[in-house]
Amino acid sequence: MARAPFQLGQHTIMPGQRLQVDVPVARLTPIHLYISLSRVVHGRKDGPVMLVCGGIHGDEINGVEIVRRVLRSKAINSIRGTLIAVPVVNVFGFLQQTRYLPDRRDLNRCFPGSESGSLGGRVAALFREQIVDYATHIIDLHGAIHRTNLPQIRAQLQPGSETERMANAFGAPWCLTLSCVKAACVTTLSAAVFRY
Ligand SMILES: [Zn+2]
Repeated sequence: MARAPFQLGQHTIMPGQRLQVDVPVARLTPIHLYISLSRVVHGRKDGPVMLVCGGIHGDEINGVEIVRRVLRSKAINSIRGTLIAVPVVNVFGFLQQTRYLPDRRDLNRCFPGSESGSLGGRVAALFREQIVDYATHIIDLHGAIHRTNLPQIRAQLQPGSETERMANAFGAPWCLTLSCVKAACVTTLSAAVFRY
């Protein structure tokens, strides 16, 4: 039996189809619009809904390139499940080459966000409602820009959990529990991996 379509908001993605989904973040002028682009790949076979995102911190551009390479990978054509790829979440920070939003808030400390809150809270709520809430698994890519970090995983690492299995699959030399990081994007889901 053919796999059911994937519904992302008002967008319907058929099995085997790729679709670009625009998430309007802010309108500056009638012709200038901040948009976070998402690519959805709905595989022909059943499986999890994996969100891979970069650029929550706008100056950590390594994740942006990783997402681009994932989308160019031939393996994408035969995935089980669904991939939602978001190269740049914090469009403001990416354009200004800074970690923060224009109000100096750290977007990765603003989740789950609020539709009536600060700029960071509103962007977090928008991203969560339109993208994150549809995922069963998250890989959130970060990097060390102004310092030296060991390759590491940060996640909620309950023994035997799906999150622990994902963290081990990465093969990074260090895995840290995420309990010390509040309001991060990946804490909005129970099954999630956060790479810093
Ligand atoms: Zn970061």
